[in-house]
Parts: sequence; C-alpha cells; structure tokens
Amino acid sequence: MPDYLANRLDPRAPLVLDIRDLPRRPGSMRAIDRVVPAPADLGLELIGVPEGADLRLDLRLESVSEGVLVSGAVTAPVTGECGRCLREISDTLAVTIQELFAYANSTTDETTEEDEVGRVQGDLIDLEPTARDAVVLALPTNPVCRADCPGLCQECGTAWEDLPADHSHQQSDPRWAALQKLTRTEE
Ligand SMILES: [Zn+2]
Ligand SMILES: [Zn+2]
Repeated sequence: MPDYLANRLDPRAPLVLDIRDLPRRPGSMRAIDRVVPAPADLGLELIGVPEGADLRLDLRLESVSEGVLVSGAVTAPVTGECGRCLREISDTLAVTIQELFAYANSTTDETTEEDEVGRVQGDLIDLEPTARDAVVLALPTNPVCRADCPGLCQECGTAWEDLPADHSHQQSDPRWAALQKLTRTEE
C-alpha cells in the first residue's frame, strides 16, 4: 500500500463514508441518503458544482467478498458560463456511480493498482475521488446555455439574443472593413 493511503482519512469529511455498521458478511447492505456540502473544485473550468452546494448522496453500500460495493446516484446543482454567449448556466446534474472498495489484504487489494480500485481504509471509504470523476466526466467541456445558442456578435460582443434581428455594423469606410477582415482571419 503506498504511503499516501496510509494517511488517515478524516471521518468528518463530507464524502468519507463510515462502514462500521455494515456487516462484513457478503450480501449485507446499507443505504445512505444524505445531503453533504460539495468539496471545492468539483468540476471543470467553465462549469461545476459550487463549493458548499448541496450534494445529494443516494447510495447503497453492499458487502461483497472482496470489499464494499458502493452504487447509486449523486445529484448536485451546477453553475457555469455559456461558452458562446457567456451568460450564466445553472442546471442540476445527476450521475450514477458504482465502485468497489477493496478490503486491505484482499485478493483485489493485492492484485490491483490503487488507481484502478478504491480501498477500504480502516472503517472508512473515501468517496470523493469517485464522485469527482463521475461529476467531471458528466460535465460538458464546452458548456452552452442551449444547443442552438447563437453566441455573441463578433463586432460588439453583445449576445445575439439581446440584439434586434436587424442588428449589424455597416461600415462605409473600406479601410475599416479591410481591417476587420484581417482581425477575423487571425481568430
Ligand atoms: Zn449561450
Ligand atoms: Zn454587434
């Protein structure tokens, strides 16, 4: 087991689950239904779960011979910025997770790398990496407020949706028009 895993988890951390009351007998189950504050940096650059927002855990913990299988749903509000019109996006994200946390010295523990399968650490499970992966994977890298968002006017930077249909930047001076053409080519 690598050194950093030997570091004790904080049992009070919102995404650390205590499995003391889950019998080790395979087939035993326990349900978790709770709301915890979202950790920092849960998301991508342009969109993510605000720190401290309500993260709903609706999970099932199941004893299996090699460890504890955690499955269920994580639901959270997400906020971000539309990549085209820069307006705020707010939405709700629901992801399903399923992850095995292996007992120390189980066959799984001995035959897998730490980044392949989670580990039970004492009586605790750290769900944060799993939740983080699931949330990040489900978020769009290029978030948009809606699929057909028309974005911004390239000339004045105003959202097309806030502009009249006949909005335009007619330039009578040909030198100005040529300059604009140049600027656009550089983009
Ligand atoms: Zn937009
Ligand atoms: Zn404009």
